[in-house]
Amino acid sequence: MATWQCVKSCGACCFLAPAERPDLESYLSPEQLTLYLSLVGDDGWCIHYDSGQRLCNIYPDRPSFCRVAADTFETMFGVDANELDEFAIDCCQEHIADIYGDSSPEMTRFEQAVGLEP
Ligand code: SF4
Ligand code: SF4
Repeated sequence: MATWQCVKSCGACCFLAPAERPDLESYLSPEQLTLYLSLVGDDGWCIHYDSGQRLCNIYPDRPSFCRVAADTFETMFGVDANELDEFAIDCCQEHIADIYGDSSPEMTRFEQAVGLEP
């Protein structure tokens, strides 16, 4: 069974341009949406994203909507804890495909890390 994990040097989910995420209002509270929009930089990337290092500059203090955890995914998406891995893996694959491409090294690294690829 595939188990979700984040991989280093990815950062694909830190591209926050609202045009890429038309359903934001459906899973963020009004306060979260305000916070989310305040994070979007001119280039569409999060203002806290270090694109050189591909790291979050506020990782310990990142917003709840940046966290892959059973409680946040249950609240935002109505996902049961036993569906979390599959749902989160799908989300990551979507972001990675959008940013780096379906056949990118980033996708291969992610799929190997979560157990989808040997
Ligand atoms: S898209 Fe997934 S693997 Fe990539 S940085 Fe975000 S959580 Fe990690
Ligand atoms: S706060 Fe950190 S984890 Fe969240 S989108 Fe910005 S850089 Fe990424």
